Amino acid sequence: MILDATPVKMPGANQTRQEPNSLYAAKTRLARLNLSMASLFPAPVSGYRGRLAPSPTGYLHVGHARTFWTAWQRARAAGGALVMRMEDLDPDRSRNAYAEAAMEDLRWLGIRWLEGPDKSGPFAPYQQSHRKNLYLAAWRKLLHRGYLFPCRCSRKDLETALGAPHESLTADGKSNGKREPLDDEPIYPGTCRRFQGHAPQLPGPTVSEIETPEGLNWRFRVPDGEEIVFEDQNLGVQSFVAGRDFGDFVVWSRNNIPSYQLACVVDDAAMGITEVVRGADLLKSTARQILLNRALGYVSPNWYHCKLVVDHNGRRLAKRHDALSLRALRQRGLTPMNILSAELPMEG
Ligand SMILES: [Zn+2]
Repeated sequence: MILDATPVKMPGANQTRQEPNSLYAAKTRLARLNLSMASLFPAPVSGYRGRLAPSPTGYLHVGHARTFWTAWQRARAAGGALVMRMEDLDPDRSRNAYAEAAMEDLRWLGIRWLEGPDKSGPFAPYQQSHRKNLYLAAWRKLLHRGYLFPCRCSRKDLETALGAPHESLTADGKSNGKREPLDDEPIYPGTCRRFQGHAPQLPGPTVSEIETPEGLNWRFRVPDGEEIVFEDQNLGVQSFVAGRDFGDFVVWSRNNIPSYQLACVVDDAAMGITEVVRGADLLKSTARQILLNRALGYVSPNWYHCKLVVDHNGRRLAKRHDALSLRALRQRGLTPMNILSAELPMEG
């Protein structure tokens, strides 16, 4: 679009009297300017800080596009900042090429961010794989405050303790993709909870002297029976009961990777995020993260969960839905507008 050189009156500038027709012309120019500026991120005028946090384990699909677009719209509407954070902690599944593709797809959609791996910023680095020291410090804090216990259960142990393989797990222990393993992991049966004197909030001396989480799974002991209530900015009041809806969850796994839950709360706090916009598949994780925030002394951000796009069988989209990846849709000639305005089946 070509902008003419006539000075455009911006809202809030000194008011001068305008004839109706010149006012109309100014408004038209302003509208055009706004359109052309839609691809730019204006300087923040509020304290709102949102984030885009893709995990580079595959190509983004149309569901991601909707959620990230919502995150961008909310940051813009609030006059705030948007941060790009690459959640690349899983070395087996994360690929640089997917990280690049995710940022490229989101730029193509028209989404812009102020800080991120591609442009740095005051809270760099913006790749989680480069922030492990922060997660380690949080692990230590939780350990010393008595929230964690080491878990020696294997996946097989857990299945045996639960009587039968959990429905989200197949015989080989892999998720069959029907449910989100992140949010619907089996409730931990508590096998290691009672391990050698780990009373709640009272770590044994042997445990608090441990310097590194390596080699063991570390679980967060949830307050059994406590109802975690939060008001979702999109879906309304949500409530989950600790120990019933979710159990003691892993914050550090034995292959020395901090969990999604831990890394997410540490980064949201460190990066000053005031609102988390993400998919409704993470509602239960929000309850877990509220507990982590409390244990670490962080203030929880606001939460805005987006309803999920589902496929024609009513199943949530996953990165395996290649036909609905932004890459594939772009190759078929669809525009960002086509993708963002298309009527898609939603969950719930
Ligand atoms: Zn265990």
